Amino acid sequence: MNLLVVEDEKRLNTMIRDYFSSLGYSTSGAYEGKEALRLLSESDFDLIILDLMLPGMDGFDVIRRIRGTSGIPIIMLTARSGESDKLMGLELGADDYITKPFSMKELAARVRAVLRRAGREAQQQKPADLLRHRDLEMDMERRKFLRNGIEIHLTSLQFDMMKLLISYPGRVFTRWELLDAAQEGAYEGYDRTVDVHIKNIRKVLEPDPSKPRYIETVRGVGYRLGEGD
Ligand code: CA
Repeated sequence: MNLLVVEDEKRLNTMIRDYFSSLGYSTSGAYEGKEALRLLSESDFDLIILDLMLPGMDGFDVIRRIRGTSGIPIIMLTARSGESDKLMGLELGADDYITKPFSMKELAARVRAVLRRAGREAQQQKPADLLRHRDLEMDMERRKFLRNGIEIHLTSLQFDMMKLLISYPGRVFTRWELLDAAQEGAYEGYDRTVDVHIKNIRKVLEPDPSKPRYIETVRGVGYRLGEGD
């Protein structure tokens, strides 16, 4: 985890960074808004701790500028009296705030909570549009399946089976589960049906369908997407 601490009081800036370093975070410091924006454009950060009272460009402007291009989590440092500051900062898109003076422990708890929330949101968004395994890629939105960047045409049913396999690489699926995922309904669901579908997927996916490198047969159980050797 890489934190950017934006605070013009040098002692406080250093204290915050030392504390988070001791917890195993990487940290960088900036003492004014422009410097913060420059650092953000140069490296990847996971979270920003941002003081609102900065010389030159103030914290609100910094938040506005950041939110124009990025959803990176921001925790504001605010003065006790600044109730309207907190609201304005949150409206501009900051994730949380902490009031000075604060304990480092309290700040660390806020940081962890905001990072957890951001991580959950990123995870929830990911499976919806793009699934990847080895050199396989599934674009859910456009319903496209690619191997090594080249599209492989699957029927809608084959696509749904592949989607289940690639969502849980290594996990074995029974033929019933695969059929179910393809929403074909149990009444049609004979094992042989699945075998035929898998065979058809292998025909277009596998370089050598007689020696499958992607979809492995697990005897007596079903199929799984393997790691390849
Ligand atoms: Ca300050």
